[in-house]
Amino acid sequence: MSSIPDLIKKKRDGGEFTDEDIVTFIRSVTNKTIQDCQTGAMLMAIWQKGMTDKEIETLTREMMLSGEVMSWPKEWAGLMVDKHSTGGVGDKVSLVLAPALAACGCKVPMISGRGLAHTGGTLDKLESIPGFNIHQSSAQILKILESVGCCIVGQTEILVPADRVLYTLRDATSTVDSLPLITGSIISKKGAESLKALVLDVKFGRAALYKDLASAKELAQLMVSAGNGLGIQTAAALTCMDGTIGRCVGNSVEVIESLETLKGRGPDDLMELVTALGGLLLKMTGLASDLPEGKRQISEAVIGGAALSKFQAMMEAQGVASETARSLCSAHTDYYSVLRKSKHQIELKTPTEGVVVDVDGMTLAQVLHKLGAGRSNAGEPINHSVGAELLVSLEQKVEKGVPWLRLHYEDPSPTPDQMSRLQSALTLGAQGHKVKQSLVREILLPQ
Ligand code: URA
Repeated sequence: MSSIPDLIKKKRDGGEFTDEDIVTFIRSVTNKTIQDCQTGAMLMAIWQKGMTDKEIETLTREMMLSGEVMSWPKEWAGLMVDKHSTGGVGDKVSLVLAPALAACGCKVPMISGRGLAHTGGTLDKLESIPGFNIHQSSAQILKILESVGCCIVGQTEILVPADRVLYTLRDATSTVDSLPLITGSIISKKGAESLKALVLDVKFGRAALYKDLASAKELAQLMVSAGNGLGIQTAAALTCMDGTIGRCVGNSVEVIESLETLKGRGPDDLMELVTALGGLLLKMTGLASDLPEGKRQISEAVIGGAALSKFQAMMEAQGVASETARSLCSAHTDYYSVLRKSKHQIELKTPTEGVVVDVDGMTLAQVLHKLGAGRSNAGEPINHSVGAELLVSLEQKVEKGVPWLRLHYEDPSPTPDQMSRLQSALTLGAQGHKVKQSLVREILLPQ
């Protein structure tokens, strides 16, 4: 067995690891027999020299095996599914997709994350619902899947402990943005859920981590290959992330938009993502014969209300009082009788007449982040009531002086500079400008 300094040297000099090399490295991380400086040096060597597909597959498997790998009743084997998104603005897909999949007969042990930098996190959104508890043990997850079919929870302490150590050191050594390390980190955690099928929403564009389709596709291909290498049917959708998904960005306001969607009143772009990603999963499990049939089943679960019932049951199973869950899910509810509304709202007005040709999601997200909707460091508190509602849609003709954005804020108030940045997010153009396009640009199917 090679020593750790030998392994660091091997990668530093551009060598290819054997399976045994990777096992040695990951076990030493998990058992804490490696020094942090050695792990940091190894991460930098991997960042510099990369890894082959085979190395990435082994890295992913060993990371997965570093902790608990969940197990499910035998009869669920073909039904276990999940989704991962690389992060967007207004990305509330999970809140609609998990219950829709459960309504279609899947089991969805969705392990989600918190928001960091400009991107929001599903767990933060759900925590704006009073009582919602994202901390659930494996035994509790099993119970919720038995009774409801879906849950949305945080990572448990014992799931992929190697990733916890590596992620902290990646952050400290500027090695977060390494494709092999990102792939190992994301897919090992999905692998530990013992899934039948996984769909990856890999975003590209102005408001995404990857700015162009080609770089997003590179990551998508690696993740699809690593997922399939673990025996999980894995597909990826490459989706455009320039504006916002739906019309709401922020935590409470996104929960409201998700509930509206589950009541059949959702925006088209959100429904496109939910049906495409859900349809792929139904196709991969065999619950749908093909993608159009899968999309149809998901759409029917959302429009027909079956997904809303699952969401209500999931809230109750995860700690929300029955009265609160019932109120949020009733047809005509005052959401703010349950969710906290920000102390202040202000509407921004259109500067001229014209047609809405662009709304810059990144600018909106950056300002909202500064106003407390997001965090810069893990563990920081956020203000769930801060957010924004778009009051116009692409290609809509507007007069001068009509409200186009409602900002929800508390403390701090937006500065004049932040207000002008928000105003600059809107671009108006001439009539006849066609700008609407479908968000899903390419799909990578399991090899
Ligand atoms: N999310 C993860 O869990 N890991 C990464 O490396 C990046 C995003």
